[in-house]
Amino acid sequence: AADGGVSPESRSELGTTGIQVSPIGFGASTLGNEFGLVSEESGIHAVHEALRRGINFFDVSPYYGRTRAETVLGKALRGIPRDSYVLGTKVGRYDTDKFDFSAERVTQSVQESMERLGVEHLDIIHCHDIEFAKDIDQIATETIPALNKLKAEGKVKAIGITGYPLEVFPYVLSCAEPGSIDVVLSYCNYCLQNDRLSLMLDGLKRHGVGVVNASALSMGMLTPKGPPEWHPADKDTKEAAKKASAYCNSRGSDLATVALQYAMRSRSGRIASTLVGIDSVGTLKKNLALLSSEPDWDLIHDVQDIFKDVHNRRWDSGHYLG
Ligand code: NAD
Repeated sequence: AADGGVSPESRSELGTTGIQVSPIGFGASTLGNEFGLVSEESGIHAVHEALRRGINFFDVSPYYGRTRAETVLGKALRGIPRDSYVLGTKVGRYDTDKFDFSAERVTQSVQESMERLGVEHLDIIHCHDIEFAKDIDQIATETIPALNKLKAEGKVKAIGITGYPLEVFPYVLSCAEPGSIDVVLSYCNYCLQNDRLSLMLDGLKRHGVGVVNASALSMGMLTPKGPPEWHPADKDTKEAAKKASAYCNSRGSDLATVALQYAMRSRSGRIASTLVGIDSVGTLKKNLALLSSEPDWDLIHDVQDIFKDVHNRRWDSGHYLG
């Protein structure tokens, strides 16, 4: 880790799965060009460099780049010893408005993902953005039991659920067979603008459910470049982010650095890994370096103050209102 990396000692167990993940995980939606063009070559290079620097956790989905991200990640992982990385992908979401959580589709989907990724098993399989399911009860009654069969066959090791409106997590956890959901992947709910996930962390831990936090940069909103055009936050929230970015610059820092330091340091052991979108070796190096740097808490508090009026404001997602 001397040249900017994370050590194996910094890994922690994802819930009670026995799976050890690095504190920072490689968010591979970037490889599907979700945040701008990333050439295959540069994406593959970033994956190899991440592995070399101790990142062992990769998160992808057939939805990212409509299978492109899985294909590129699969090319990058070819020839790498299978036990040296933790690989998670998803089922159920296939396009912006195309969801299918049926037992038949998700079973076939896992097979297709494994072929694209060039692996014989997946460490984590998530139900992707469950708030969009036509009937949320289908997740507990049909999708999870289908994935459980694959677990029994050794094709997947852990089962997770992902989504934006936090209320879907306790609901589905309470409906599903106890112990059948190993992981919750939440996004944009544990960042400088919104820390609502923190209220759920103790409960999830008590139930032995591992937590992965994604989008600590709120899908690009908390970066100097600002949010992509499709970003769902309202005008006031985006305006506050712009102000926060200018303020960080005036203090000789930048909003992404402050946002990642906040999310990584405030997690107090209850978040196993923070997924960060990695689009290049440059981004990777920057994010690993700031992991070992001392956060400027005064600056963090000033930025939180800029977000005061939009703190915990959320947006509609699927069948749930913000
Ligand atoms: P993010 O918020 O982590 O990053 C957004 C953008 O910021 C990306 O383009 C990224 O490359 C860039 N970036 C990263 N570090 C930076 C830095 N230091 N300075 C400036 N820019 C930087 O993005 P995200 O992609 O929304 O989330 C990370 C990962 O989490 C995804 O790739 C995906 O794997 C996962 N995720 C899952 C879900 C879900 O399951 N529903 C939702 C969101 C994210």
